[in-house]
Order: sequence, then structure tokens, then C-alpha cells
Amino acid sequence: MAVAVRYISTRGGCAPQTFDQVLLTGLAPDGGLFVPTSLPQLKHEEIAAWRDLNYAELALQIVTPFVGESIEQEELKRIIVDSYAAFDHADVAPLTQLGEEEWLLELFHGPTLAFKDFALQVLGRLLDYVLVKTRQRVVILGATSGDTGSAALEGCRHSHNVDIFILHPHQRVSEVQRRQMTSVPGENVYNLALEGNFDDCQRIVKAAFADQSFLPENRQLVAVNSINWARIMMQIVYYFHAALRLGAPERAVSFSVPTGNFGDIYAGYLAKQMGLPIDRLVIATNKNDILHRFISGNDYSVAALNKTYSPSMDILVSSNFERYLFDLFERDGAALAAFMTRFGKEKLSVSEAQWRRVRACFDSASVDDATTCRVIAEVHAQTGILLDPHTAVGVQAARLVERDPTVPMVTLATAHPAKFSEAIAAAGLSAPALPEQLADLFTREERYQVVGNDLAAVTDYIATHC
Ligand SMILES: *Cc1c(COP(=O)(O)O)cnc(C)c1O
Repeated sequence: MAVAVRYISTRGGCAPQTFDQVLLTGLAPDGGLFVPTSLPQLKHEEIAAWRDLNYAELALQIVTPFVGESIEQEELKRIIVDSYAAFDHADVAPLTQLGEEEWLLELFHGPTLAFKDFALQVLGRLLDYVLVKTRQRVVILGATSGDTGSAALEGCRHSHNVDIFILHPHQRVSEVQRRQMTSVPGENVYNLALEGNFDDCQRIVKAAFADQSFLPENRQLVAVNSINWARIMMQIVYYFHAALRLGAPERAVSFSVPTGNFGDIYAGYLAKQMGLPIDRLVIATNKNDILHRFISGNDYSVAALNKTYSPSMDILVSSNFERYLFDLFERDGAALAAFMTRFGKEKLSVSEAQWRRVRACFDSASVDDATTCRVIAEVHAQTGILLDPHTAVGVQAARLVERDPTVPMVTLATAHPAKFSEAIAAAGLSAPALPEQLADLFTREERYQVVGNDLAAVTDYIATHC
């Protein structure tokens, strides 16, 4: 394989870093996000040769150049194999047919029933390995709209070298989501319920990363949100896995991705840049539709937050979109930094030529709650398959956009329906039972602390508990 990838900031103000350096940070020091300096370019024959690999073998092939010399190959292999052994389906990410050239990619067979497990099972083990090697102890801090929190806690709680603090918006996550986080045992595990929305959580986390002087000496913050490059990297794999199963690279495939922070779909964009024949990438949003407004009308401005049946996508600002914008700005960090300083203060748009490039790659649609419930009911009546509300948004978006009917359209099924019983009930159906490993969830003891919507309240809590 080619030389190992290095990482630079989207704002242009940071020297190239190695994989383990970016693994142990969050945002780049200049406020940007880390992106690879270059992507591995895969030839048609190289992709075709991966057809018979199982999920873990494929993952190892894809991520090796991104990790480089940071982790020995045998260790990396062990980490990946162990991570996906915890999934409850032999194919890890099975495909299910929904209709004519219409597919679901089931990404909910991990321990916490959402796609976040694909990255966070690996991230926890990567951290463990690197921290033991360097004899460091770190503080993991993350904000969650629901699913990241439990997946991060599940992925990292066994690590002896971390204290993990997860902020969720108080009373704005589903009961299953809350219980999945607050019932995780462990001396090093802390849940904070913030009296605000997800964007408040995200803002406070960002501010804590920017000024870490509240921490004891020799400690640093590590990010588990999708600003952490390792998460994006692990999500590239299932695009290849699904496309290969459907006939790639001889054939193109399209994907519809229920989108919040733009992490998952950005991984799809990278797969395409690496040479996977992806035809369309559909950005599927709920009422919180900043990305849909941008794609459809070149309007990149913040609107008010809506609470919906798909809470993991109730997000005003999609932080990972900056990684895509970096490419759109021809990797000119200074130009992007200037653009991002204006963001949130005024209505932003890009040039006509840039906007055409965006639309050559992405489609988008916004789906409201009533439609989401209707799609859940209709798909269940027609196929017996029960969609979770995020997946339903994805399925509907795929049906709304114009597309080539001969190209398979794969919707990422991002969560198990048992996690979102409220939406299932609103669709007039009864929620499925929780899978066996979570059957006693409602009787487990919960531990969490409610905190005010205030940076100091959060950093004081961390400083006294880590
Ligand atoms: C996190 C999440 C999303 C959104 O993913 P992004 O990477 O933030 O775009 C969609 N659906 C579910 C179920 C999620 O947990």
C-alpha cells in the first residue's frame, strides 16, 4: 500500500499529524476538523478483489492506510475482529430488500442497536491500545443527541485509562436511549443531563475543548463525537461492503443516509472519492433541514430547532459538513475559515460553480413527522419490516429524489426500531421487544446528574470527578 496518510486541519493552520495524534484530540488547535492530506485511490481490480472478504477483513483493508504506522498490523486486526465479534449478525451489516432495486443496510446489530457501534466499538479499543502504550490517562468528553452516548460508553467503559463524561439534552432523548446511557456501570462513567438542546451540548463541548485549563495536570480531552476522525474512517467500510454485495465495482450503487451531523454521509462521500462507484448520495433530513435548504436552494443558514420523532437528527448545525466544504473550497483552509466565521451570523451561500458541484454529488429531501409515521405504517403493511423513524426518513427521501431506476438505492437503517417506541406507537403499531441483551433495561439502576446550560457548570463537574 501507499505511504501512510497524514492529517491536516480544514482551517489550514496546523502542521500534518499522524493517526494516533488525531485519535487523541478533538478539533484541530485552529478550530478546524482533521481531514486526510490525501485519500487512497483504489483501482477497479483492487475493489473487485475484496468481494469475498468478510466484514472484519474488508475493514482491515480499508483502514490500514489511514492508520499507517500508528498501530501494528496484527494489533489493528485484533481490534477490528474483536469489535465486530460483538455484533449479533454473522454478516455484521446485512442487506434486506425492500422493493425493486430498493434496499436497507441494517446497521443496528451492534451492542447499542445503532450504527454508532460500528465506529465506537473500534474507537474504544484503539484508545485503550494507544493509552496503555503511552501510559497516559485521558478524559473523554462527548455530546449526544441519543445514540452516540450509549455507543461511546459501551465502547470505552472497559478502558482503565479513561474517565468518560457524556452530555445529553435533558428530557430530549428517548427513554430507551436515556436508560442505555445511564445504566452503564463503572467508576469512570459519568452522564450529564444538560438543561438545553443538543446544539447547546455540542457548543459547550466545543468550548471545553478549546480551553482545557480546567483539567488537572497531564490530562487532555479526547473526542468521541464524529469530529473524531477515527469514527468517520470506520464508517467508510460499510459503503464498500454493501456496494460489493450489490455488484460493485461493475455496477454503481446509490445511498440514502438519514443525516444529522453529516458524519455518516461524509464517510459515503469519501468512499466515492476513493473510487467506489457511488451514483447518488441522498441527504435525508427531518424538519431540521439546514442541509436540505443548502442543497436545494444554496441557503446555508441556521433556523430554529424542531423536536421530532427522529431525535438523533435534531441538529441545527452539522459539524462534519465543514469537512466536505473544505474540498468544495479546493482545500483552501484560509478561505474556508473566513466563510465559517460568517456562518451563523448571516445567510450564507456558495458560488454558482461550487453549488453545481455540490448538486452533482448530493441530492436531499426533508421529511416531516407525519410522513415518517405514514412510511413506517406503509412499509410494515407491505413487507412486515418495521423501520425506525430515522430509517423511515431515509427511505422516504430516497423515494422523493429523481433517480435511475436501474441503480440500486440503499437506505442506511441507522437504528433498531425498539429504540424509538414513541414514533412506532404514533404510526399505530406496537413497538418490538428489546433484543435479549437489553431485555432488563427498564429495571436497571440509572445514574446521572442534571446540570445547567452553562460551560462552567460542566467543566467544574468534570474537574471534580476526573
Ligand atoms: C447519529 C444518528 C444519525 C445521524 O448520523 P450523523 O452521522 O450525525 O449524520 C441518524 N440516525 C441515527 C439512528 C443516529 O443515531
